[in-house]
Amino acid sequence: MFLEMKSRELSRSKSVNSPLTTMATTTFFKKTPGTETSEPAVTPPPSNVDTSFLRKPKLGGAKTKKKEIPEGVWTKCPRCEALVTDKELDDNLKVCLRCPFHFPIGARERIHALVETCSFEEMDANMTSVDVIQFTGYAAKLEGKANAAGLKDAVVTGIGKIGGQRAALGVMDFSFLGGSMGSVVGEKLTRLIEAATDKGLPVVIISTSGGARMYEGMFSLMQMAKTSAALAYHAKAKLPYISVLTHPTTAGVMASFATLGDLIIAEPGAMIGFAGPRVVKDTTQSELPPGFQTSEFLLEHGLIDAIVPRKELKDRLAYYIEFLMESHRQLAALS
Ligand SMILES: [Zn+2]
Repeated sequence: MFLEMKSRELSRSKSVNSPLTTMATTTFFKKTPGTETSEPAVTPPPSNVDTSFLRKPKLGGAKTKKKEIPEGVWTKCPRCEALVTDKELDDNLKVCLRCPFHFPIGARERIHALVETCSFEEMDANMTSVDVIQFTGYAAKLEGKANAAGLKDAVVTGIGKIGGQRAALGVMDFSFLGGSMGSVVGEKLTRLIEAATDKGLPVVIISTSGGARMYEGMFSLMQMAKTSAALAYHAKAKLPYISVLTHPTTAGVMASFATLGDLIIAEPGAMIGFAGPRVVKDTTQSELPPGFQTSEFLLEHGLIDAIVPRKELKDRLAYYIEFLMESHRQLAALS
């Protein structure tokens, strides 16, 4: 009896503290005359009633509530951790506003930033890869990537004006299957280089690549020799080729046209190499020096000629092309 009374006291005190109405309290303790039985002391509230005592207490009021930030509006810099808006990044050619970190940039955005307005004539825009060796899932990947990036393959090529000079420009895009070089990348670049040789134009290729495209087997490896041979004919005509290496440029691309430039320049902080650092470390069984395979390391060791920040690239390319083409004209006059 004593226990039952305590139990009722407890339930009443709970009811007073809770925002439930008195009606709810009476419903919990309906007493039948002549009997001493009762409903359970603490009856769980109905699940559809939002009770304050079930919720965790909140600190502060509505004023401190965090603003909802829509996804895709802000980007965090992986180097300095600053938050920058996507618009600020776009306006700054995808370079962090607080530090020199260069975010990846698409081929079309890059071309837009480099050439004079309306001067770019794209070549072989509709060339697409064929799943020659019937590699599982490759056809679906090609279709998906083409739709997502609005590109038909990992390179955009064409002829445009950089500064006052016409140049054959090839720009790779890492978002399309890791910028891998398949038969379309190789063929488009080869046709670009051959067109430049025919028209007496300099070639500029901006690389970013994970290497050869394994889905095309031997056909992708053949592109290394094909692009290199086209560049050899271009060099024989004493025309300049400028190779621009951006993050990351590796493997089959690095082992072919990317390192054949008369001038090889790179963006700051880019990872450039043939095999990845882990593979090199395991193969050589030695500790790698600090900064291994970065643009800065390779400039210090003589593989590249200059590091050019993205925002200065257009002016520097215009300057280099003008200088090299003047030399070309002088050589042609002598011969
Ligand atoms: Zn930053």
